[in-house]
Amino acid sequence: MSKNILILPGDGIGPEIVNEAVKVLACLRDDFALDIEMDEALVGGAAYDAAGHPLPEATLQLAREADAILLGAVGGPKWEPLEIAVRPEKGLLGLRSELKLFANLRPAILYPQLAAASTLKAEVVAGLDIMIVRELTGGIYFGQPRGVRKLESGEREGFNTLVYRESEVERIVRVAMDIAMKRNRRVCSVDKANVLECTELWREVATRTGADYPEVALSHMYVDNAAMQLVRAPKQFDVMVTTNMFGDILSDCAAMLTGSIGMLPSASLDEAGKGMYEPIHGSAPDIAGRGLANPLATILSVAMLLRYSLDEAEMAGRIESAVDKVLNSGMRTADIHSAGMQKVGTEQMGDAVVMALREA
Ligand code: NAD
Repeated sequence: MSKNILILPGDGIGPEIVNEAVKVLACLRDDFALDIEMDEALVGGAAYDAAGHPLPEATLQLAREADAILLGAVGGPKWEPLEIAVRPEKGLLGLRSELKLFANLRPAILYPQLAAASTLKAEVVAGLDIMIVRELTGGIYFGQPRGVRKLESGEREGFNTLVYRESEVERIVRVAMDIAMKRNRRVCSVDKANVLECTELWREVATRTGADYPEVALSHMYVDNAAMQLVRAPKQFDVMVTTNMFGDILSDCAAMLTGSIGMLPSASLDEAGKGMYEPIHGSAPDIAGRGLANPLATILSVAMLLRYSLDEAEMAGRIESAVDKVLNSGMRTADIHSAGMQKVGTEQMGDAVVMALREA
């Protein structure tokens, strides 16, 4: 039976980059017999303008029915004056919580051809390929009680609660282990078990869960050391798994090791493996509508979608090889351009990937 993919272009450069990713999906469907159907719907500022809400009920319904979702980006200055409840970002957060997308997968991959784009020395980062698995629906961002209270002295005190149930730790560690089985079979669980009881439990549950995966080498690292190691010798990592807040910080740090925001995809998965896939960057209002945006992060998000939600690893590999080939040919959008390379726009880059797919 065909799989249904919901396409949510969103705002700013969203429609431009998603358009190129849809060309790639259409090519796999038409030329390589990938059995998919695509629907499209509004989210973010575009949805607010058309329907008065960043996540209209019709979009949510289609998202629930879909096997996987591809999202461009949401937001922009036009919608910043709106009240928080109807800002474009609420569309994204609403989808994550409504669909219970608890596992955030953030690869940090640096194509050797782009090593010069990193602020770190090329030999430290060339060929970098880390997968950060971040818990997305629990931990200190959601824990109760939370708030700001007034003390008897009159001084105010802010407080949040870091809380994880064993089952929450176990399911995210299983996601990391399953991914490691498809990669280099190493998982580093990041915590602060020397200070925080909650992550002492995290470490205990991670160890227990890891025992079910004898082929995966599980290690543990304190978050402060992990941050240092990411910058010192990032290639030592294969898969990292961590809490919501530690993952938030470490995944941005890892992404920036690559220096090219226009290249990095991401996935957010539920317990059944259904997921929402999107580039890590935003809607880039400064370049929207000018055909300058790099569509590769979105195209590589399609590869993740095929691998993790549609179990089409071979098709995913085709996309990744096609991107590699295009980079080898010297084509570069402005964000990854360097001397001697051929500067191209969004559409040209998307067309080049489609051509490389067909020629493979
Ligand atoms: P941004 O990621 O949109 O842009 C940061 C810089 O990177 C800009 O200079 C932009 O031109 C550049 N850039 C981003 N993507 C690019 C691409 N594909 N190709 C070439 N250059 C690219 O971050 P921002 O400027 O902080 O945010 C802009 C808007 O996006 C805001 O409204 C923000 O809320 C929203 N946002 C949305 C998401 C999302 O939808 N997941 C994520 C982050 C920010």
